[in-house]
Amino acid sequence: MSNGPLFAAIEAGGTKFVCGIGSSEGSLRTVTIPTRDPEATLSDVEAFLDEAIAAFGPIAAIGIGSFGPLELDRTSPRYGHILATPKAGWQGTDMPSRLGERYGVSVSIDTDVNAAALAEMHAHDVDSLAYVTVGTGIGAGIVVQGNTVRGLGHPECGHIAVRRHPVHEDFAGVCPYHGDCLEGLASGPALQAAWGTTASHIPEDHPAWEAQADYLAQLCVTLILTVAPQRIVLGGGVMSRPFLLDMVRAAALRFLNGYCVQWDVAKANEALLLPRSLEPPGLVGSYLIAS
Ligand code: ZN
Repeated sequence: MSNGPLFAAIEAGGTKFVCGIGSSEGSLRTVTIPTRDPEATLSDVEAFLDEAIAAFGPIAAIGIGSFGPLELDRTSPRYGHILATPKAGWQGTDMPSRLGERYGVSVSIDTDVNAAALAEMHAHDVDSLAYVTVGTGIGAGIVVQGNTVRGLGHPECGHIAVRRHPVHEDFAGVCPYHGDCLEGLASGPALQAAWGTTASHIPEDHPAWEAQADYLAQLCVTLILTVAPQRIVLGGGVMSRPFLLDMVRAAALRFLNGYCVQWDVAKANEALLLPRSLEPPGLVGSYLIAS
């Protein structure tokens, strides 16, 4: 890696925190910490950073890519706080102030999916990209002209309304807010609820996958029609089924039906992709948030 300044990166997830010291070119040291209550979790983060700084030298800034929802309005007194979350004890947690006071450096924060989108933008050398994760939930981070999309809150594309697939005629969906939104029909827990087994155990020829590709293609097409990304990267546990990406590409082209002339088979193969980063994209993105 280069001899530039050192940064700390924290990918703050609902089940684990991945922390690193280094830069977006690579980490010198990383640690994975199970997410518990804020005090126990952040004490472990600080213990890692203390040791890493002692070993490698001072850091220039800290970047955090966090689960949300987050207050990202810099004019708000709650900037950087975790807002209403079902995760016990985390509501109101202010990681940037705590870490900024301890280490005396600036701390920047964005959503975990926006961090991953920044990392993939860097890896793909484009300036507009959407990163979609399909796992326990469905989320999307969006970068337009080099900047993550945020405004009144941040995008929550996982909850868009989708056209139901016929195989789900009698399935209510699992989203506690909307029932049959995208996440309610196509997240890992939705697959489990609809078919009685986990995504990794549903056979390749099962009709569940036609529906899954259909739903994810509806999200991709919505992104194409609204923010015109140069790349859409699809990550998360459900996407690790190797046949699924090609099915999503084909379904997206069917939905577009020739409407966006830039999108043909070659473009779908070039622009709808799996993650490319070698390290967790949220960690690499957190370095980019810091720098
Ligand atoms: Zn929903």
